[in-house]
Amino acid sequence: MPVDLLATTAAALAAHANGWFGVEKGAGVAAKVHRAAVLTGEFDPEAMGLGHAASARWRSEATLALPQVTAERREPADHGDVVKRLLQFADGAAVESVALPMGHGRLSLCVSTQVGCARACTFCETGRLGLVRNLTAGEITAQVTLQCRERRPDSIVFMGMGEPLDNLPGLLEALAVLTDRNGLGYAQERLTICTVGHVPGIAALRALGWKRLGLALSLNSADEARRAELMPNSVRYPLAEIQAALVAFRQRKNLALGVHWCLLPGVNDGERDAAQLAEFVRPLGRTFVHVIPYNPGTAPIARAPSEDEIVQWVARLRAHGLAVRRRITKGRSVMAACGQLGAARPPGVTS
Ligand code: SF4
Repeated sequence: MPVDLLATTAAALAAHANGWFGVEKGAGVAAKVHRAAVLTGEFDPEAMGLGHAASARWRSEATLALPQVTAERREPADHGDVVKRLLQFADGAAVESVALPMGHGRLSLCVSTQVGCARACTFCETGRLGLVRNLTAGEITAQVTLQCRERRPDSIVFMGMGEPLDNLPGLLEALAVLTDRNGLGYAQERLTICTVGHVPGIAALRALGWKRLGLALSLNSADEARRAELMPNSVRYPLAEIQAALVAFRQRKNLALGVHWCLLPGVNDGERDAAQLAEFVRPLGRTFVHVIPYNPGTAPIARAPSEDEIVQWVARLRAHGLAVRRRITKGRSVMAACGQLGAARPPGVTS
């Protein structure tokens, strides 16, 4: 099977090329091919000055497939346009990626790791699709490469469609490519994985020994029963086990973990919710609670919280001594905000 250039590190490609062409001819060209592939999405051996025979060999041994951008929507936000792209792969499967301008001129890219998602979180459009399939490492990296053609994102968040740790092999391979210093070169702290609390997956990330990799838990309720209602397919690991996995994940005292809270008015915004959240967070060490105002999608389970309700909730959490960041809702009008990545419905799925 040809080597997927977007799922391969520079060193691994050089090793392959040494086998195809011999050590002298292989490695130097491989470095150029690799950089062009991951940074620009181009694979054109002839344009790199290779002869007919060498080009033909490269084409038979390696492949690069970028998804097609079938729709792109932009919405102006404080720091620039939020850009939501619908990306379609060769088999027709589609995912979304979202470029989010942040403060200080930085750009964050929210990528997908699965087509659909098996977790069925009730506040999430993707959850209503069910799982169609995992993305390959190359399909995950391709989202970054596509964005690099316009502007290189400063950080990558794995918070798009899918539970990243349900696709652990694809995720780990993609992380190796994204952090490859001879390619895309992302520092660990520029990458954040968001999980519903996949305990073995968190342990697998811990086993990488990467002390600065970002990790966030999508919590939404620190009450076991309420969380089971909101996130019915994420009850396998009790909150105490998830908490222990997060504590074990921390290898540096000052690493900031994230806890995400989709704020659903009348559902998880009471004093008891705040107290339970504070209790959950206490043993975790340095942690920021990210409050994400609920974005009603096509089948709302609540209304969007009002400005007053958001302010009140943040104040409540701060009164419990929590460090809180309020996520400014971006991209709502293009359905690109958290929990809204669901436009890529497979045929036949209508609700
Ligand atoms: S919130 Fe995340 S884990 Fe839950 S259904 Fe949506 S994509 Fe899946």
